[in-house]
Amino acid sequence: MTPDLTHFIAGKRVSGTSDRFSDVFDPNAGTVATRVPLASTAEVDAAVADAVAAQREWARWNPQRRARVLLRFLQLVNEEIDALAALLASEHGKTVPDARGDIQRGLEVIEFSAGAPHLLKGEYSTEAGTGIDVYSMRQPLGVVAAITPFNFPAMIPLWKAGPALASGNAVILKPSERDPSVPLRLAELFAEAGLPPGVLNVVNGDKEAVDAILHHPDIRAVGFVGSTPIAEYVYTTATANRKRAQCFGGAKNHAIILPDTDLDRTVDALIGAAFGSAGERCMAISVAVPVGEETADRLVEKLAERTRGLRIGVSSDESADLGPLVTAAAKKRVVDYIDLGVQEGAELVVDGRDFVLDGHEEGYFLGGSLFDRVTPDMTLYREEIFGPVLVVVRAKDYEEALRLPSEHEYGNGVAIFTRDGDAARDFAARVDTGMVGVNVPIPVPLAYYTFGGWKASGFGDLNQHGPDAFRFYTKTKTVTSRWPSGVKDDASSFVIPTMA
Ligand code: NAD
Repeated sequence: MTPDLTHFIAGKRVSGTSDRFSDVFDPNAGTVATRVPLASTAEVDAAVADAVAAQREWARWNPQRRARVLLRFLQLVNEEIDALAALLASEHGKTVPDARGDIQRGLEVIEFSAGAPHLLKGEYSTEAGTGIDVYSMRQPLGVVAAITPFNFPAMIPLWKAGPALASGNAVILKPSERDPSVPLRLAELFAEAGLPPGVLNVVNGDKEAVDAILHHPDIRAVGFVGSTPIAEYVYTTATANRKRAQCFGGAKNHAIILPDTDLDRTVDALIGAAFGSAGERCMAISVAVPVGEETADRLVEKLAERTRGLRIGVSSDESADLGPLVTAAAKKRVVDYIDLGVQEGAELVVDGRDFVLDGHEEGYFLGGSLFDRVTPDMTLYREEIFGPVLVVVRAKDYEEALRLPSEHEYGNGVAIFTRDGDAARDFAARVDTGMVGVNVPIPVPLAYYTFGGWKASGFGDLNQHGPDAFRFYTKTKTVTSRWPSGVKDDASSFVIPTMA
């Protein structure tokens, strides 16, 4: 076992003092790799106090100077991206190429955030009235918190840190306790890139640390990503404590397959989107909805063959399609859902429960599972499984297929596969989800657009990254100014000024 992990506070790694720890596993071997300290309220308070002091100075840096820190950080991460990807994969279980993608999608938001000097520009109206100019400016909030999930330990911390730091805030990052090593290393690289001590702090922990964040009066905003029950809890608690909050939750992403689609290409797309990262992606396709019985029969036959042929391997095996799940508990949860699906009467076409990887018998591996004839009342359909399980719900026509994702509790992403432009356009306009793919299975918007789900997949008004992130991490101040020159009538007025 390697030595215990630390926090990263005031520019350096510091040991935990709470005497509480959580195990961090090696999911390929099924062993404990190290332990991560779980911060007490007092440790969170101390980190916030450092961040408050550091933020005042950081906010005085001009935006271009702040952006240069981000650009140096980009360079440093790129120089060690292979080692970072290997570290990420060793704790998460995703394959190394997929881990590289996790880091890369985070870096794209850092690149976008380096445009802060432009993005933070205010508005100006000259001669809004006689001798009157009006302008607005964006100012940082102060200290903000990011509470992030296990499944993208690089990307999501960077989605939060990029725009928050570029806007002049200090950040308390509370990453997942399941794979905290990469967030810690990223914080170190920010420091090496010139970020002043205390501006980005990593406080590891569990509910105690999260509650300390949610109740701390000096934390002005909370960005959360994780499961829906916790997202809702964080949102209601943070907002009750007068903080800004944007909290993104779970998902059940559907793929609608129309009869006219190129089925081989569609199956290629579905297999990767359902089983990549062992299905532990908030944008994973977990429900396939073929329209019409003939499409369904052909689709299930092709999916079954491809699901049986998935290459499952350790995360360092670059030829593997997927690696293990993150923990034994995550694996058990998925197996329990498959058991339940069978009990509920769904047809288990491919059963991945008994998969064992030779030489890694204790690793948290599962084969891909495929269910057919799943119905909307089944738990398998209603709840997020977060594992390598794809369920097929057969729809009789387009309208029924459109209704399924629209009426589902979750509303993160959805995809439609078709050659029919009219149908795709109609679908994109009418479906009730936040992100839509047309022949694109995982429609994660690029850094300069915004990312966010609807309904139970997201709580709060603004999305992640893109221009919304700069709105979330800044407050707008508006100045109305009037100067005596040219103004003749300066008598007192007792009526509300208007532009009449
Ligand atoms: P999780 O909800 O278990 O944990 C997320 C964060 O909340 C972690 O930092 C964790 O320490 C903290 N936390 C856990 N339990 C808590 C509690 N009782 N009180 C306070 N804080 C608590 O989520 P996870 O398992 O790490 O991540 C997977 C989930 O995240 C899935 O549901 C997935 O769909 C979702 N996710 C959503 C998005 C999105 O953008 N919508 C992106 C990635 C992941």
